[in-house]
Amino acid sequence: MNDDPVIESGNQCQPDISDEEKEKILSLMQKMMEMGICAVYGKEDDGLPDAEVDCEANLKSCRAICCSFQFALTKEEVQKGHLKHNPSRPFFIASDADGYCRHIERSTLRCTVWPERPLRCRRYDCKQDPTKPHL
Ligand code: SF4
Repeated sequence: MNDDPVIESGNQCQPDISDEEKEKILSLMQKMMEMGICAVYGKEDDGLPDAEVDCEANLKSCRAICCSFQFALTKEEVQKGHLKHNPSRPFFIASDADGYCRHIERSTLRCTVWPERPLRCRRYDCKQDPTKPHL
């Protein structure tokens, strides 16, 4: 029996494979995730800093538009189990009918899981986004 809850939870059925094969699969998953069709289950680099964004100051103009983006959770986040993901699109962040993340407080537009928000929320820098969603 596999003790990996991600693999064990269905949708993923991986036989014993070599590290080299795992790397290839993770690389493929990364590409698929970038295409918006799959989550990445690989290790994230925790050494990189969070983006420096003053969300509080931007909120009036951006209306937390980044919290309507679709993105995959990391394997570690899925395993931790504190974030809701989309059951019909594993393991993307769960969103409601309005497209916004299920973790956002609608009246304040604040993240209810801020201290433990996903890595992609931490790393996203709207100032570097050419579409300038914060303006
Ligand atoms: S987890 Fe928090 S910061 Fe990330 S998209 Fe959801 S509400 Fe926004």
